[in-house]
Amino acid sequence: MHAATLTRRMFWGQSPKRVVNICFLVVLICSALFTWRELIVLQHAYATSQRNGLENVAIGLDRHLQFSLDKLLFYRNAMQLALAQPLNTDISRRMLADFEAQRDEHTWQLLGNNHRSMPMNGVSDAFVNQSKLLHRDESRLAGELSAALEFGYLMHLSGGGGGGNGELQQSSWYTSRAGFFIASDIAPGAPALLPAYYHQVTRPWFFEQSPEKNQTRDVVWFYLYDPVRNVQTLTASVPLDYQHYWYGVVAMDFPVATINRYLQQIVDDADKGEVYLFDSRFRAIASSQDAPAADTLFDSVDMARLAGEVEKSSQGGIRFDTRYVSWQKLNNFSGVLISVHSIEQSMQAEFGTITVVLMAFWTLFLAMLLVSWLMIRRMVDKMTQLQNKLTWQAWYDPLTRLYNRGAFFERAQVLVETAEKHHAPYSLIQFDLDHFKSINDRYGHQAGDRVLRHAGTLLAALLREGDIAGRVGGEEFCVLLPNTELDEATQFAERVRARLNAREILLSPTTSLRFSASFGVSSSAEAGIYAFEKLQAIADDRLYKAKQGGRNQVCAD
Ligand code: GH3
Ligand code: MG
Ligand code: MG
Repeated sequence: MHAATLTRRMFWGQSPKRVVNICFLVVLICSALFTWRELIVLQHAYATSQRNGLENVAIGLDRHLQFSLDKLLFYRNAMQLALAQPLNTDISRRMLADFEAQRDEHTWQLLGNNHRSMPMNGVSDAFVNQSKLLHRDESRLAGELSAALEFGYLMHLSGGGGGGNGELQQSSWYTSRAGFFIASDIAPGAPALLPAYYHQVTRPWFFEQSPEKNQTRDVVWFYLYDPVRNVQTLTASVPLDYQHYWYGVVAMDFPVATINRYLQQIVDDADKGEVYLFDSRFRAIASSQDAPAADTLFDSVDMARLAGEVEKSSQGGIRFDTRYVSWQKLNNFSGVLISVHSIEQSMQAEFGTITVVLMAFWTLFLAMLLVSWLMIRRMVDKMTQLQNKLTWQAWYDPLTRLYNRGAFFERAQVLVETAEKHHAPYSLIQFDLDHFKSINDRYGHQAGDRVLRHAGTLLAALLREGDIAGRVGGEEFCVLLPNTELDEATQFAERVRARLNAREILLSPTTSLRFSASFGVSSSAEAGIYAFEKLQAIADDRLYKAKQGGRNQVCAD
């Protein structure tokens, strides 16, 4: 047999039920894999969109900070330039003279040009001398004061107090080590200048800018509580140096409330998650949401994991149980923006809807698959049953459950050929029920059927392995006994005859009947004849003889 045909037979020849099961299982697995893959793709797209959203927030915040920091550095650079080429105008000369006149006073204010600048606010020589950090270097004082005057002009001109153009800083100022300061939010006649100056020089954004502490001399960010205004504030400060001498600090502050507002506004535009600004020590500084306290956002384990990931790359995302967290570091601030999306928020977003629809479709598909599997299984079951029934009917006689005429001759032919090939004898027994017509006539057709069924069952019970029997006519039977000589076949026929005649058949509680049959036996060994038709004719002749001889007997010659 061809190999492909063999495989086909092995596959389809198996139970069709199994084939159906395998096919449905394959479809189920494929659909599950496909859906799973789609979910992963969706998840990636979602993560990417979250990161992109956060990146946009970061870019916006960075741009604002850049604008403010540029201004801060511009002030610092302008003052360095002014120190190199000090101003020499009427106003600057008058201011220096006023300073000389007032420098011993407890506090003082130099108004300069009131309309174009902010006042310069100072403390006494005695106060400056109290601190090692502070110092009035006589040779540098004049230059620094006129540079501070220029800073005042620039600050006034460029709106150092912020607020305009959506700037995030609230105020800018210069605090000198030489006992004075000039600030965008200290007006002429402001009270309590000494506490104000004292407060400034004791703040980290000032003393942390000494050459020892800030060796790179770059901008440094501070996140501090401001007890004067009672708010948390972010302060950016940069030292003013010239010719290796530290003059003081230029600084700007960014109230947390302003950054919160900014985040709120920008996040409302972009999507529905929450965005937090963390500083370099991983403290939450600001957020787009007032509600959840940033400190309680993550437990210590999650926090440590997040901090570890943030350390590794400037941008990324991580999933905690029910939340998706992405981060993006800022260029202009030594911290990181963190966005948090809960499952509900993700579900409300477009990706959530697509996921729900995908899962719904898959569920529907599964349900339909299950229903069609059940239906096809049922159909296959029924077809198999029908096929078995048809096959059985093609071979067997339904009444006696013996081979029918056609099937018996077909099987007999095969056995005869085998016997002839092996020169083995075989015998035939042909028998016919006696006076069957009168049984039908007296007891009815159904009683006749019962007798036929009884004869078939009894005969089948007596057959040996290899023997075959068939109902070859209305009440005529034929038995083929391979490897059997005439004597043995005759004995077998005698056994059947005796058994058939031995029992009465109960037709009803009051009626029973006994019946008999006549037998003709022939064998291939008698005359070396193997042809089935010939031996059957001989057996028929002998059956006729048995009938003639009085019925209920076996005739074998
Ligand atoms: P004999 O002893 O000479 O064989 O007499 P007989 O009456 O048995 O012989 P005959 O051939 O005249 O009658 C056979 C009867 O068998 C005729 C027919 O009605 C009946 N018969 C044939 N097939 C069936 C069947 O399937 N069921 C029933 N109940 N009767 C059948
Ligand atoms: Mg008969
Ligand atoms: Mg007959």
